[in-house]
Amino acid sequence: MAYITGLTKSKKEWTPEFIVAIDDETCIGCGRCYKVCAHDVLSFEELDEDDSAKMFMKVENAGNCIGCGACGRTCSKKCFSFAPVEA
Ligand code: SF4
Ligand code: SF4
Repeated sequence: MAYITGLTKSKKEWTPEFIVAIDDETCIGCGRCYKVCAHDVLSFEELDEDDSAKMFMKVENAGNCIGCGACGRTCSKKCFSFAPVEA
């Protein structure tokens, strides 16, 4: 199977892994991923739980993702899943 590939500055080929999902069970809504994403992929969502409200991150614009992986590296809760995309 062929995947979308990119080139580094020195023209070395690499296969980006794009965002698939964020696990809202483990997300604590810290916002670290939101701060590192420069492509407007993520947004906060409020979830009502009984008497309290919980903030968590959701994938808003998956199509904007460039597959840099920065969000996943900054998440201490390992909420992110990524996958390459078929060309
Ligand atoms: S860094 Fe992880 S825990 Fe924090 S808001 Fe993002 S997905 Fe949630
Ligand atoms: S992989 Fe990069 S571009 Fe995609 S959501 Fe994460 S930080 Fe944003």
